[in-house]
Amino acid sequence: MTEHVLWHEQIDPPSKGDVTPPRSADVVVIGAGYGGLAAARTLAVAGLSVAVVEARRLGWGAHARNGGMVLSELKLGPGVLERRYGDLGRRMYADANEAFDAVESMVRDEGLDCDYERCGELYLAHAERLVPRLRRLADEHLARGEAVRFVVGSELPAEIGSNAFPAGIVFDRAGSLHPAKFHAALAARARHAGALVIDECLATSVSRSGSRFVVDTAKGPIDAGVVIVATNAYADGLIPALRRRILPVGSYIVTTEPLDPGLADELSPRRRNFIDTKQFLFYWRLTPDRRMLFGGRRSLAASSLADATDYVAASMRRIHPQLGAVDITHRWGGSVAITLDRLPHVGRFDGVWYAAGCNGSGVALNTWLGDRLARHVLGDVDLPSFAELRHRPIPLHRTRRWWLPIVGQWFRWKDRP
Ligand SMILES: Cc1cc2nc3c(=O)[nH]c(=O)nc-3n(C[C@H](O)[C@H](O)[C@H](O)COP(=O)(O)OP(=O)(O)OC[C@H]3O[C@@H](n4cnc5c(N)ncnc54)[C@H](O)[C@@H]3O)c2cc1C
Repeated sequence: MTEHVLWHEQIDPPSKGDVTPPRSADVVVIGAGYGGLAAARTLAVAGLSVAVVEARRLGWGAHARNGGMVLSELKLGPGVLERRYGDLGRRMYADANEAFDAVESMVRDEGLDCDYERCGELYLAHAERLVPRLRRLADEHLARGEAVRFVVGSELPAEIGSNAFPAGIVFDRAGSLHPAKFHAALAARARHAGALVIDECLATSVSRSGSRFVVDTAKGPIDAGVVIVATNAYADGLIPALRRRILPVGSYIVTTEPLDPGLADELSPRRRNFIDTKQFLFYWRLTPDRRMLFGGRRSLAASSLADATDYVAASMRRIHPQLGAVDITHRWGGSVAITLDRLPHVGRFDGVWYAAGCNGSGVALNTWLGDRLARHVLGDVDLPSFAELRHRPIPLHRTRRWWLPIVGQWFRWKDRP
């Protein structure tokens, strides 16, 4: 089965990147996703010479494959964060909110053409036994001044056209955008500021050369004062220490044909982002052209696009039986970057900077992390709180194909109805 990515069809193909890398740059950024382009722009605005090298064509990565939900979300709630990490937990929670606010302001203030809407999120309990936990979670957010609302029973039909969930939390601080348009806008900003963006240019090694670095690429070496790796889930053997700390996990999306306005209103009266509480969570929303976009994954084992997306489509129809006769028009997948503690990480390996590990919620977070890391390199700000975490390697990373399905079985048990 060939993948068809809705977002790729809805924008003009991104223009080719700059053709040849420079021989030397103040900063080389590896990976032209949200994080890499945000970092490049900030550094170029400050007057540094910046080259971004991207292995694939521009607009190939997770940045143009995701669900387009703009979230201030960490996988751990504020209570757990504080119990586990104390003051650092409080600051990580604040940083995730700041990431959302900064990206929303950037989109609005700079007028980025990416269909952004402040739509809010409905976080749904997938089983009755989760309801008390969700109620506690809502209280934790409320106690920290977040605009959230616990909704249960008869309040739910005003939020979602589905009988599959007993309760949920509405988060005001959430939005949606067109991922590929957002990416194209970030690429244009970076270039406008003077950064070179060179695509189809795999970085093959980074080595030290005195106080500088040499980045070898498919199109020739670049001498660099600073190197930033922004490869997130697509971290390859370039920095082995980083690859060992990131687990790439597949996530799959289907979209339907455009729905009748009445059906669209019934399924999602407020056009929220929907996410459920499972380990193998589902995420779904209506696109501006009224298609249902539905994403998730069945397991941690390798699977074909057809199997993975058949499962996702069947799950969508179980949650919304009203979609039984509606055609699926697009199917695709991509990788999300999971870390051992399910939190993002920022730091350095042998002098090379990186930010990675958004655990499936990187639209706001990775964009913000790229900018913050760049501002730190410029000496303007401290590193974000996530830099204080110890970034532990994933145990038995090389043999993960064997043990991941077993972890997946445990997740499925936790996800039981
Ligand atoms: C199906 C799916 C749905 C998702 N839905 C959401 C969502 O709704 N909301 C949300 O917040 N997040 C979501 N995410 C996660 C989000 O897309 C990512 O966190 C974010 O895009 C990743 O950050 P990035 O854009 O900086 O990096 P990426 O887009 O992953 O880009 C990294 C780039 O690095 C390049 N690269 C790798 N190695 C090299 C090398 N050696 N040399 C040169 N280049 C290299 C890769 O080719 C890649 O293009 C989703 C992800 C997927 C896959």
